[in-house]
Amino acid sequence: MVCEKAVEVFSLISPIGEMIMKICPQGLHSLSQCDQICDTNFHPQGGQDVVLIGKESGNDNVQKHVEDCIGWLNAYFTDVRRVTYMHMPDICVARDMGSFQERVWFALAKNIGPGQTVSYGELAKMVNSPGASQAVGNAMAANPLQILVPCHRVIRSDGSLGQYARGKKNSVKNWLLEHEGLNIVKNKVATLKSI
Ligand SMILES: [Zn+2]
Repeated sequence: MVCEKAVEVFSLISPIGEMIMKICPQGLHSLSQCDQICDTNFHPQGGQDVVLIGKESGNDNVQKHVEDCIGWLNAYFTDVRRVTYMHMPDICVARDMGSFQERVWFALAKNIGPGQTVSYGELAKMVNSPGASQAVGNAMAANPLQILVPCHRVIRSDGSLGQYARGKKNSVKNWLLEHEGLNIVKNKVATLKSI
């Protein structure tokens, strides 16, 4: 099902750099760091408030989702455990909920909280597709909702981090996991909180 509502694009300042949010009156379509951010220019700013760059939406429904998302992100970056008790911002309902990728994304968002990790293989089992690690990896690479669908918590079964944004933003994955309290040594989770 394709969403026929008007989608507005917003930019945010955040501790992990500029983020882009696409929202229709029904909810979020996407949330991601700016494309240009990569391992060679990633300079995280801990303590930076998440704020909107530019003007608010003229549509009250859209603006409500904008504020919900900013509120959720501020909780995530200031007191990460708090998001466990918060409602996720609304995701646009016009989605292909039955697809393999959707099932992987929502199983991950529902079951793997801050400070936890899961392997590609374990996540495949969670959606009743044991052995589909590669397809899970592809679903992670295609994740449209960065942080909200916590693909940074999906790591290799030996504890090594694996790729983020197809290998362009691996240092962001490292930063997010450390932000959530995990200890990363030589690109591996040293204190692995497996499920
Ligand atoms: Zn929509």
